[in-house]
Amino acid sequence: MSGGVDALSSQQRRTLDLLGIGVWRDRARVIDPEPQQHAVTPVAATRDSDWASLQAEVASCVQCPLHEGRTQTVFGVGNRNASWMIIGEAPGAEEDRQGEPFVGRAGQLLNEMLRAVGLARSEVYIANILKCRPPQNRDPRADETEACSAYLQRQVELVGPGLVLAVGRIAAQSLLADDSPVGRLRGRVHRYGPADIPLVVTYHPAYLLRSPAQKRKAWADLCLARQTLRESIG
Ligand code: URA
Repeated sequence: MSGGVDALSSQQRRTLDLLGIGVWRDRARVIDPEPQQHAVTPVAATRDSDWASLQAEVASCVQCPLHEGRTQTVFGVGNRNASWMIIGEAPGAEEDRQGEPFVGRAGQLLNEMLRAVGLARSEVYIANILKCRPPQNRDPRADETEACSAYLQRQVELVGPGLVLAVGRIAAQSLLADDSPVGRLRGRVHRYGPADIPLVVTYHPAYLLRSPAQKRKAWADLCLARQTLRESIG
C-alpha cells in the first residue's frame, strides 16, 4: 500500500491503538530520524478520565524521559468550566517548583494581558502542551509532545472552552499541526479538535517581555479572541 503506516496521522495511529489494532510496519524501511528519542505509547485510559483520574495519571506519568528531571508535574489551573482556555508551551523553572503553569515573569504578563480584556486569571483555564519541564527550558521534542498530547486533549474536552488561545510558537504549531511561524498563524481564527473550537494564536508573553514592540499585535489578537467568543455565543 502506498504510504502505509507512514501515511497515518498521529490521531489515526492513536485511534487504532485505542481500538487495539496493531499497525503493520515494514521494519526494514523504518528509519528513525531522531534516534535519541524514546518510543512512547499514548495512554489509552486518558480518553475517558475524569478530572481526578486525569490529574493522577499526569502526576505519575513516566512516558517520556522528562519525568526524570521534574520536581513535579504541572497539570493546569483555573476554572474548569471556562470559556477561555489558554495553552502555553511547557513549565519553566518556577512552574516546576510551584506546580502551576505561568507563575513566573511570563505568567505575570499573561495575567496582565488577560486583565486587559477583562478577565481574571481565575476565570480562565491555563495548561501547557507539556506537563514536565524540559531541561534548560529547551524546546519540547516531538516524542515528548506526542506522549503528553492525550492529557491536553482530555483537558480540552473536560473544560469544553468556547475559545482556545494558543500562546507562542510551540503551542500554536503543535495544536494546529502547522510549522508556520507565529507571525503567519496569528491574526485569524483557526479550529481545534473534533469540536472545532475556535483557536486564536498570539505571541508568548516571554517573547513579549523581550520584544515589547509586539505587544500591540498581541492586544489585537486578544481582541480577535474576545470578538470571536462573543460572536460564537451570539
Ligand atoms: N511558559 C509556558 O509556556 N508555560 C508556562 O507554564 C510557563 C512559561
